[in-house]
Amino acid sequence: MNDTAPTNWARNITFSAPGVHRPASRDELRALVVKSPHIRVLGSGHSFNRIADVDADRDGVLVSLAGLPGGIEVDTGARTVRVGGGVRYAELAAELHAHGLALPNMASLPHISVAGSVATGTHGSGVRNRSLAEAVRAVELLTAEGEVVTIARGDEGFEGAVVSLGALGVVLSLTLDVEPTYEVAQHVFRELPFQGLDFAAVSSAAYSVSLFTKWRGPHFDQVWVKRRVPEPVDFPWAEPAVDKQHPVPGMPAVHCTEQFGVPGPWHERLPHFRAEFTPSSGDELQSEYLLPREHAVAALGALDAVRDRIASVLQVCEVRTVAADAQWLSPAYGRDTVALHFTWVADAGRVLPVVSLVEDRLRDLDARPHWGKVFTAAPDRVITRYPRADDFAALAGRLDPAGKFSNTFVRALLPSR
Ligand SMILES: Cc1cc2nc3c(=O)[nH]c(=O)nc-3n(C[C@H](O)[C@H](O)[C@H](O)COP(=O)(O)OP(=O)(O)OC[C@H]3O[C@@H](n4cnc5c(N)ncnc54)[C@H](O)[C@@H]3O)c2cc1C
Repeated sequence: MNDTAPTNWARNITFSAPGVHRPASRDELRALVVKSPHIRVLGSGHSFNRIADVDADRDGVLVSLAGLPGGIEVDTGARTVRVGGGVRYAELAAELHAHGLALPNMASLPHISVAGSVATGTHGSGVRNRSLAEAVRAVELLTAEGEVVTIARGDEGFEGAVVSLGALGVVLSLTLDVEPTYEVAQHVFRELPFQGLDFAAVSSAAYSVSLFTKWRGPHFDQVWVKRRVPEPVDFPWAEPAVDKQHPVPGMPAVHCTEQFGVPGPWHERLPHFRAEFTPSSGDELQSEYLLPREHAVAALGALDAVRDRIASVLQVCEVRTVAADAQWLSPAYGRDTVALHFTWVADAGRVLPVVSLVEDRLRDLDARPHWGKVFTAAPDRVITRYPRADDFAALAGRLDPAGKFSNTFVRALLPSR
């Protein structure tokens, strides 16, 4: 075991375990799970809250799967890939591309683990693109008793097993649907006013669209338009940027994926940030709220009324779309979604009151917070926005009766866990 107190990527969380176990084989992992009274898996540690943590008063063990062998198995004929529980998108994407294959979408960064991302309902952007969890066709779980269970699409409980918050067991592997590789070209536009915004038209102008505002005025400062080649670029609402952009003010644009419409492989355009550089600013907190898409303009108006407060602690805000999915605990469950994301300064004391203010402004718009980011809404209120939450709790009760994989974060949402 590495015995320095582990922290997450943003260093705003010091986990409650004294170190992180890194088993080198499945047998070693199984033995650790069976003997531990309480255990959680740490992915790449890019979540901004205590979702991955163990409970300090339960002798919790934190385990990383990054040292397990057997990471990526591509089945070109079946158009699937089996991905080990510790694999990151950057490695997966390069391997798929080498086989002439692709994922339908990616988050803004490739640095995150696949299992950790789907466990929190992570998403990219695109009116027809669903969360990353929707690519999953089977989950291979190591349960509390050390049994290996596979739950595949079509099996009872499958829609509960993917966005799991890490509460069902260790995800040993995920099998994902893939498609033939494709190219994407990225264009950045500047200065799009809120006034007269046709959100439906703007957000569906290309395969993936991201709108960035610093909330210094009623406008988007940048719009990132990612089109699948050979779709034409058609964005009549703003002027193209003349030099390369980074969404976060003051950060070097070299950290970002290629712009100016230069076509390239899907995995080198769909994320905003390049795998070999720090994503975003690297010194930040993040929050995100996912709302029914029809509330997009109302949400922008509600936040514009407090934009000075938001701007005072903000690095940048990104607005994206996600298509409805079927995963019980996905923030895009059952509804086409608009996602309002905030990259805050790294100062919780100043940021948290503004997070509460944002939640207050969005209160009547049925906002679901991103599971991996900072929120202040009461968990018992948040969970009422998930109609299948009781079914998830029942599934967790069957797979992990003693709550070995549960933690304070999960129990605050689902007291029976
Ligand atoms: C710079 C930056 C940019 C981001 N951009 C986006 C974005 O574009 N879209 C978006 O939706 N989110 C985004 N996020 C949030 C991020 O995608 C989520 O927090 C995601 O969960 C991170 O994955 P991870 O591997 O770091 O998971 P961790 O934070 O390590 O863990 C998350 C959860 O997954 C569980 N878990 C991990 N691996 C396993 C396993 N093998 N078995 C069981 N449980 C497991 C953990 O126990 C925990 O509950 C961003 C975060 C950062 C820091």
